[in-house]
Amino acid sequence: MKNQASAVIDFDKAGGVIPVITQDYASHRVLMLAYMNRAAFEETVRTGHACYFSRSRNRLWRKGEESGNFQRVREIRLDCDEDTLLLIVDQCGDGAACHVGYLSDFFRKLDDDEWKVVDQRIVDPAKYGPSYGHHPAKKPAE
Ligand SMILES: [Zn+2]
Repeated sequence: MKNQASAVIDFDKAGGVIPVITQDYASHRVLMLAYMNRAAFEETVRTGHACYFSRSRNRLWRKGEESGNFQRVREIRLDCDEDTLLLIVDQCGDGAACHVGYLSDFFRKLDDDEWKVVDQRIVDPAKYGPSYGHHPAKKPAE
C-alpha cells in the first residue's frame, strides 16, 4: 500500500481518530458508528476486514475477533470534508454487528419518550463468553 489514500484523510481534526459509519451491504441498514485511527484504516484496506480503533480499550479492534461477527468490506467512501468514512460491509458470522446481539446497534426507536426495541435479536451474545463486549453490557429493555 502506497498510503496515498490514507494521507488524504484528516485524522488530526479530532485527535487521531475519525468517525466511521458502517452500513450493511444487503439490507442498507446502518449497523454502527465507530472510530478508526490511521493504523486501523490501513489494516482495513490491507485485509478487507473492518478494523476499528476502540477508544475505551485504546487499541485496534478487529471487528469479530471474539465473536466471529467480522465485517467483509465491499466499499469504502470518504465524505466531502475528508474526516468521516462510510464503510459498506457484509456482516458475517451470526450477522450481528451489535455486541448485544442485534444486526444493528440502532435497534431502539424513540416512541413517546421511551426507547422501544424495534428489531429482532439475532443471537444471544452469552454464547461468546462472559468477557465478551467492547463496553460493559447494558441489557436492553425487552
Ligand atoms: Zn451494539
